[in-house]
Amino acid sequence: MQALVFRHSLAREAASAIGGRLDRRAFVSRLAPVRLEDVDELPLPSEDWVRVETIFSGLCGSDVKQILLNGARDNPLTALVSFPHVLGHEAVGRRADTGERVVLNPWLSCGPRGIEPPCEACAAGRYPWCRNFRSGNLPVSIHIGNCAAATGAHAERFSAHGSQLFAIPDQVSDEAAVLADPVSVSLRSILLAPPPAGQAVLVYGSGTLAFAAIALLRHLYPAAEVWAATRPGPRAGLATRLGAHAALSSTPDELIAQVARRVGTTADSLDGRAAQRLLRYRKLHSSELCAKEVVLIGVRWNAVLRSRGRAGHPRDRLAVRAVRPGAVPAGDAGRPVRLRTRARQN
Ligand SMILES: [Zn+2]
Ligand SMILES: [Zn+2]
Repeated sequence: MQALVFRHSLAREAASAIGGRLDRRAFVSRLAPVRLEDVDELPLPSEDWVRVETIFSGLCGSDVKQILLNGARDNPLTALVSFPHVLGHEAVGRRADTGERVVLNPWLSCGPRGIEPPCEACAAGRYPWCRNFRSGNLPVSIHIGNCAAATGAHAERFSAHGSQLFAIPDQVSDEAAVLADPVSVSLRSILLAPPPAGQAVLVYGSGTLAFAAIALLRHLYPAAEVWAATRPGPRAGLATRLGAHAALSSTPDELIAQVARRVGTTADSLDGRAAQRLLRYRKLHSSELCAKEVVLIGVRWNAVLRSRGRAGHPRDRLAVRAVRPGAVPAGDAGRPVRLRTRARQN
């Protein structure tokens, strides 16, 4: 069958990285680490695994980064991958055994690894925090799409443990179902940190997780005011269509000014040092200036913070302080706020 295979080879990676500077096609050339190949199907890791005919396989930001070889070298997750592997983990497909349409929970945690009893994290349903990504009857890997023994979904067929597959109700289309993975990432984060009553929520981002967050916030908390800091043009249009009350700039200085205006203050009256410090966190800056809490969705934030010697553990609090502008709400003026980091917790 046809499959998108990633082969770890320093020579190939170097050739692509150098060639890719001149022509991005080098990232997908014959010499690149990633190639569309004709492969034999792997044996199933155990009896309770099944084959699934792929209907759609979503492109995750992590796939793109891997193919363009621009993942952070210090990202701790790179130690949890085995090669060669077939990419793809945001899948909708049809079970080969029962014919059911299913979506995939890609985590290769205790259950799929045949580990009994499960670790504490798995027992609590927190599969991304599983302690056993390096043990059991699979090679090192955190999810389908980066495991050498489990075919990923960028292929005609992929394989999964029965517990990873969820039947899709008939009224849900394949196009909607394929969003189950990224939308659940945003959903979980929002449920863990619901918007405080009476305060606006600023969603910063122009990708699937951000758009899912906007739609979910509007759906789950109709009373919440939702602002989107997003790229101009079609993305801003999409943010509005999904329910954002305002589409703000994604350029730091402009965004700070816009947020300041909206909360009834000026950018200059915001604490200068705090603003500067926040700006250094690139994306994470401005939303913090009037927020009590910043929720970081997606795995990359954790890597960014870690690489800057800041909070590494998802539960850690990041001691970045900003002064709340006086206007909203009046009682809280001048109190330092805290950033809480949250890693992807779907
Ligand atoms: Zn993904
Ligand atoms: Zn576990």
